[in-house]
Amino acid sequence: MRRTLFESLTHRPLTEKPPKADDAALAELAANVNRAARRRLGRSLSIRHVDAGSCNGCELEIHALNNAFYDLERFGLRFVASPRHADVLLVTGPVTRNMREALARTYNATPDPKWVIAVGACAADGGIFSGSYAVVGGISQVVAVDLHIGGCPPAPADILKGLISLLEPAPEKSRNR
Ligand code: SF4
Repeated sequence: MRRTLFESLTHRPLTEKPPKADDAALAELAANVNRAARRRLGRSLSIRHVDAGSCNGCELEIHALNNAFYDLERFGLRFVASPRHADVLLVTGPVTRNMREALARTYNATPDPKWVIAVGACAADGGIFSGSYAVVGGISQVVAVDLHIGGCPPAPADILKGLISLLEPAPEKSRNR
């Protein structure tokens, strides 16, 4: 025990260094998302995360957006507890058979207009879980998807870039579907 305590005092921790609290690039991305949301919606963006059957790797990156290091709520991005308060559904994982109905109900409970973002390789087509007896497939098998953010898992910066590309007005995309 004494040896372990001594080693913990003299050895470096076996973990990656945390990101800098003042990560300028990420802060700029988050501020851009907020500006785009205000231009598009006239207010800040509310996001509801739905885990449709992920391994939790994508969740770790999404939760990083809200943790003490990134703290993106300071830019107006809010994760909300109910789909009834959401503009965006951020959906991770393949859709498992157990979560199929829950995802469909969450989608139906989200007021129009709304966006659905499929996050991660599994959300596109089931990823490494495709073919499993427990999996329906990608998110688009159950609800209409507006944007797919690739990666296994995508980094927080990739998720922010995806939000910006969704919010920036594009002539061919109408918010009233
Ligand atoms: S994309 Fe990768 S990290 Fe995300 S749910 Fe699939 S296996 Fe996990």
